[in-house]
Amino acid sequence: MTIVEQNRKGKGFQWADPLTKGAGLELKQVGAELHISGLLPLYETNAGPSDLVRQYEVARKHLTIGQQRTGKKSPHIRFANADTDDKLIAFSQQFGPVVAKYVYDNYQVPEPGLPEPRWPPRLTAHQDIQELRNERLIYRAALTLVMDLARPNFDFLAAQHCIGEIAAKMSDWPRQWEREQSESKREPSWKLKPESLERIEGLSSGSPGLMLPPNLDGRIVICELLNVFRSTIYPNLSEMHSSIRYGIRPLLYSLLRREFLYPREVAVCANDQCREFFEVERAGQQFCSAECSLHQRQRDYWKKRGKKLREKRVKKQSKAGR
Ligand SMILES: [Zn+2]
Repeated sequence: MTIVEQNRKGKGFQWADPLTKGAGLELKQVGAELHISGLLPLYETNAGPSDLVRQYEVARKHLTIGQQRTGKKSPHIRFANADTDDKLIAFSQQFGPVVAKYVYDNYQVPEPGLPEPRWPPRLTAHQDIQELRNERLIYRAALTLVMDLARPNFDFLAAQHCIGEIAAKMSDWPRQWEREQSESKREPSWKLKPESLERIEGLSSGSPGLMLPPNLDGRIVICELLNVFRSTIYPNLSEMHSSIRYGIRPLLYSLLRREFLYPREVAVCANDQCREFFEVERAGQQFCSAECSLHQRQRDYWKKRGKKLREKRVKKQSKAGR
């Protein structure tokens, strides 16, 4: 996989570098859009925090050497868990747009008041917030499928629900493809074939084939989804960067591909009010954090004992009120 190999060379593969070292990318919310800016990466120094694949590997390493509380740090987990705009904004500020509707640099659109463009080039993308939310929902459903496919007890109906969610939101991808092609004047690095979308839509309803394994539909959908973002080799860094100029979605799916091919244990937190994904750090771990474990135990206790305690208190109060 090219993306991985490039990463191994230590040069990184990011959408942009922050304008100020150590800070995030510049991000402004403008109406229903996020305007994200950074420096076009020259890949001269080692990959920084805005390198999604590198951050995935760093999180992996910490997990392997047993650092506590790293189970939710990996970018693929973070994106799937980003259930609020604030979390999506924080994610975009670190890694760049997921799917941009408009991208330009200061060589194409000169900055006002400057006699000549600044170097290194400044890249700006406009990310539609609703599209970002939809991408998160597709990714969450896909990660759930990948997680369930690695389990012995496969739940056909739960998987079908995920497939339905993927099909519904993915139906916007052909429009996004047309947009990227007309904006960038070249064929995007990704492509959703009409028959793939039809196949996924078809699998979002119906009953399991009698003679077929129950998880087959899930496997088909994940393969169709991952094959939208095929791995390609590029002769130079600038062509490689152009494959993610309109968003880092291909990188997010390269992580999902790794999770599918080399499954690691991912679970959903057993705290009813959390339900976030986390990577399992020790066998049998049910909660993403000590706090969640404590809160759930307190709630369970309150459920069991609370009724009695409340009754007692009401009695006491009514006595005192007499
Ligand atoms: Zn939790």
